[in-house]
Amino acid sequence: MILPLVKGLLLTLKRFLNPFTCVTESYPDARPRLAKRFRGLPELQIGEDGREKCVACGLCAKVCPSQCISIEGAEDEQFRRYPSMYELDSFRCIFCGFCEEACPERAILLGDVFELATDKNSGVLDKEKLLESARKRKL
Ligand code: SF4
Ligand code: SF4
Repeated sequence: MILPLVKGLLLTLKRFLNPFTCVTESYPDARPRLAKRFRGLPELQIGEDGREKCVACGLCAKVCPSQCISIEGAEDEQFRRYPSMYELDSFRCIFCGFCEEACPERAILLGDVFELATDKNSGVLDKEKLLESARKRKL
C-alpha cells in the first residue's frame, strides 16, 4: 500500500530536481512536437510531375461526415481527370481523416497545420491554398 505512494513521491522528486524536464510548452516561441498520428488541416498532394494527384473521383467528398468538400472535375487534353474546382471548408472540418482513408490516389493527407485562426471570410480554402504546403515541400 505504501509502495505506490513512495514510487509516486520518487517520481515527483526526480522531475523536480531535473532542470531539463519541462512539461510546459513554450508555444508560440517554440512549436510543439506533434505526434506522428497528429491530424491537422487536410492538404492536397502533388505528384512527381508537379501536378495535383487528385483525379476528382469525389470519394473524399462522399465520405466526409461534415460535407465540407466540394469538387468539380474536368479532363485535360490527355484525358486526365483533375479537379477544376476543389474547396474545403476548414470551419466545418472535424479532422476525422476519412477523406485521407478513402482517397485511392493518396492525394489528400492530413498535415501538421493547426494554427487555423482566421476571419470569417477565409475559412473556405481553394485548390491552390490546399496545395500550398505540398508545393513548399517540393521547393
Ligand atoms: S478530415 Fe474529415 S471532416 Fe475534414 S475534410 Fe476530411 S473527411 Fe471531412
Ligand atoms: S478522393 Fe482523392 S482523388 Fe478522389 S477527389 Fe478526393 S482527393 Fe481527389
